[in-house]
Amino acid sequence: TDTLVEVRDLKVHFPITKGVLFDRVVGHVKAVDGVDLKITKGQTYGLVGESGCGKSTLGRAILQLTPTTSGEVIYNGQDLAKLPAGRLRSMRRHLQMIFQDPMSSLDPRQNVESILVEGLQAHGIGANRDERRKIIGQTLDAVGLPGWALSRYPHEFSGGQRQRIGIARALVLGPELIVADEPVSALDVSIQAQVINLLDELQEELGLTYLVIAHDLAVVRHISDVVGVMYLGALVEEAPSDRLYREPLHPYTRALMSAVPVPDPEVEDRRERILLAGDLPSPANPPAGCRFHTRCPWAQPTRCATERPVLREIGASRVACHFAERIASGELRPHEVKV
Ligand code: SF4
Ligand code: MG
Repeated sequence: TDTLVEVRDLKVHFPITKGVLFDRVVGHVKAVDGVDLKITKGQTYGLVGESGCGKSTLGRAILQLTPTTSGEVIYNGQDLAKLPAGRLRSMRRHLQMIFQDPMSSLDPRQNVESILVEGLQAHGIGANRDERRKIIGQTLDAVGLPGWALSRYPHEFSGGQRQRIGIARALVLGPELIVADEPVSALDVSIQAQVINLLDELQEELGLTYLVIAHDLAVVRHISDVVGVMYLGALVEEAPSDRLYREPLHPYTRALMSAVPVPDPEVEDRRERILLAGDLPSPANPPAGCRFHTRCPWAQPTRCATERPVLREIGASRVACHFAERIASGELRPHEVKV
């Protein structure tokens, strides 16, 4: 299996400024704080976590849409974080993003044709108008929009169709990697599966590589080959999709999973429910030791509060928990949590 993207010890810290001129730096929001991951060519990496965990920032940092503080993003052997601006601009067509809310990411004054032609012109794709029209026609077809859509404006479409326009805008440039940030969370549940299936079909046909970001575990389950779970700027667990859903090892993953209802009533009755105490701590001031220790039902005295667990391999998974094996075996029992 070929790696398309390798992220090494990536950090994105935003300064918190004060003063009349906002020139006094009083701290940093550690939105992404040391992430290592690999995305395999032609596969889907699902990235999940609560809002504010840094997953969107990580997605944007991989595409260099937000400046990185340190670390590397190796794409096809080159560190994107170190590429000169001009080189990065010409690579942009291979690195595309799909946004959560197509209404706010599409210019309401542009019809679909001009939305799509803009990118082609910016990247010098298609020798003339006819060629560009041909590329656009093929792209519309690929995302399941009719030809008459070209002369229409974003507000004339339903939410699901608008997301197809957003996908077409990314696709028309012939990308290799697409970061989809909450691609279906603004859509009706009945439409979500259609858009997810479309992404899946396009991947199959075009050999695309995806990073799909979602707060909803159910959304990424079926399209992801690998799923990573983020908490406060760091990956706490990563595993092949089947494995993660069958046997989550990190207490935080188990808690997320336990919040998803199961359709089978018998299983639903027996399903584990893990309640987390307290709110997500501030990424400006993450807890020492294991970042999850303030909310973890299995937290053990001293070590969890003092020593930061690293991601380590357990079978096919990578897990950042000192006690993952003893929790999985049932040797350690969760504490009662008062909520
Ligand atoms: Fe919980 Fe400790 Fe494991 Fe962190 S290291 S997840 S606090 S048991
Ligand atoms: Mg987000």
